[in-house]
Amino acid sequence: MNLVEVLPQAGCDGLAEAVIDLAAIQANVHRFQTLRPGLQVMAVVKADGFGHGMVPVARACLAAGATWLGVARAEEALQLREAGITAPVLVWLYGPDDLELLEDVDVSIAGLAELERAAAAPNVQNVQLKLDTGLHRGGSSSGQWIELTEQAARLEAEGRFHVRGLWSHLSHGDEPSGVHNRRQLEMFRAGVVLARRAGLDPEHLHLTNSAGTVALDAPELTLARIGAGLFGIDELGVGLQPAMRLTTRLHQTRRIRAGEGVSYGHDFVAERDTTVGLVPLGYADGIPRGVHATVLIGGVRVPIAGRIAMDQFVVDLGDATAAPGDEVVVFGDGSQGEPTGADWARWAGTIPHEIYCGIGARVPRRYLDPAGSGSSGPVAPGRISPTERQK
Ligand SMILES: *Cc1c(COP(=O)(O)O)cnc(C)c1O
Repeated sequence: MNLVEVLPQAGCDGLAEAVIDLAAIQANVHRFQTLRPGLQVMAVVKADGFGHGMVPVARACLAAGATWLGVARAEEALQLREAGITAPVLVWLYGPDDLELLEDVDVSIAGLAELERAAAAPNVQNVQLKLDTGLHRGGSSSGQWIELTEQAARLEAEGRFHVRGLWSHLSHGDEPSGVHNRRQLEMFRAGVVLARRAGLDPEHLHLTNSAGTVALDAPELTLARIGAGLFGIDELGVGLQPAMRLTTRLHQTRRIRAGEGVSYGHDFVAERDTTVGLVPLGYADGIPRGVHATVLIGGVRVPIAGRIAMDQFVVDLGDATAAPGDEVVVFGDGSQGEPTGADWARWAGTIPHEIYCGIGARVPRRYLDPAGSGSSGPVAPGRISPTERQK
């Protein structure tokens, strides 16, 4: 017997769940389509869809009219294909040994060595050349660009692959002044001219991420690579909706006296007699350790008392009448007074991306159907649910 089959599915103990509102994700796709009608949406679903679940998110985005999917790693592209998703996929970080596995996936090319390897891989059909226009993270240097595009044109003429796209990535996409964006756009435009001169005629030109798509209007671009925005991370305030709601239930409550301490090191000492409650989520589940945060219990915000442990933290309930089993909303869209992922990011000195990506594998994801016709799951992240498998 397969060992995996006899093990209980990870994270399905009912202690906590992340409910993913696929309709919110679809509304966010539509928001970008309305903002930039000339651009097709490439849904960037890397890192398990920023923690929301890669395959269900990808399906929801495609159903909402996204035409491309973007991922960072080869493994992620393969998982999309294994799930039966046939939409075009671009991958930008892969190892030399990954190329032969990447059937029908566009691979990004950052330099001559990658270009030669792609040309030698018989299954690589489409490549997209990446120019570094100022982020200085990946992509071809401008000094090598002419040689790269000329060599790509030669290999394309030999029938080794088709150069389907040219692209770059912004360093200050979320900066409203747009000085850097415009400089990078100019450099990208110059790169496109050189590539055409070399004989390339790609269908797709893309430069912008979520915030950059809001901030920068450039008529020749064909695709917008939207990641954060899908999940309601609204860097430039265009009305995007958070899609993840993380909840659990109070596990236990106890009365403590003034002067008594709570959790490791007694960082919290009660100033008055109070009731404290145990919440079964910790930093192993992605709750950032060392924050002074509040959560929503019974419609009331209550503060975390003392240190967050690996699997649990304690809240100070005061004289509220909360009881074991009561719902604890860690974050949501804020509509019921609960904190948002953006609030947690602020408390933790990070960005909401890191909060969402960090929600751990022990927390099952449950999906609200776009039609509002119920939900599916729970599904451990990164796994394919029985319903996914049938599709
Ligand atoms: C993650 C990523 C994106 C998406 O950016 P957001 O700001 O999350 O929209 C786009 N392009 C590349 C290359 C990325 O790595």
